[in-house]
Amino acid sequence: MTENPQCAKCTRVVCDSKASLKGPENCPTKTKQEIIQQALAEYDDPEVREFARQASIQEAECYMHLPEGLTTRYPRVEEIAQFAKKLGYKKLGIASCLGLKDEAEILAEILENRGFEVVSVCCKAGAIPKERIGITEEQKIKGPGAFEAMCNPITQAKILNEAGTEFNILVGLCVGHDSLFFKYVKAPTTVLVVKDRVFGHNPVMGLYLAHSPFYRKLLRKE
Ligand code: SF4
Repeated sequence: MTENPQCAKCTRVVCDSKASLKGPENCPTKTKQEIIQQALAEYDDPEVREFARQASIQEAECYMHLPEGLTTRYPRVEEIAQFAKKLGYKKLGIASCLGLKDEAEILAEILENRGFEVVSVCCKAGAIPKERIGITEEQKIKGPGAFEAMCNPITQAKILNEAGTEFNILVGLCVGHDSLFFKYVKAPTTVLVVKDRVFGHNPVMGLYLAHSPFYRKLLRKE
């Protein structure tokens, strides 16, 4: 058994070059050839291949070459609409957090304006009290005695499955609720908004600021 890959800590990144076998000892490009070949075979499925091909085309189209250098051009919402069109999808699903209802509404409008049929389901659909999954009064956000509907990502997934959406877009589901949605949904799904209650749904700020005096606490050892 070889040492597990540690790409996040790699000091010799060569996998995006022709010298791809010159990485560190635990480089998966060197040590995981069997898995790499198995995974590669999956792309021989025409549907998977086309999905991957269009994703790479979309990726490249998100840049343009200007005299001053390679420049980005599409925000993610535009990228999603263009990608869905490339795949020929007609019916899209939105699985959103109730706390991002306004954002979900704008997204629906953008997609409908591009000619898509949109089905949207919010996380509280079903209005099932949190007690149903064992949440106690003390564990509620608003405190004891309040009615709180549970986030219901499995219901969101099943409703979108029943509607036959061909591609789904996540808007701000909580950590863990998003995981359940991915587990139960059938159509491929992408993420537009990642919930971050502190950083305006821009969670990478937690990484950018982890070495700053104000957020050093994120790097504490436990
Ligand atoms: S694949 Fe190899 S070269 Fe690339 S980041 Fe991982 S360890 Fe480094």
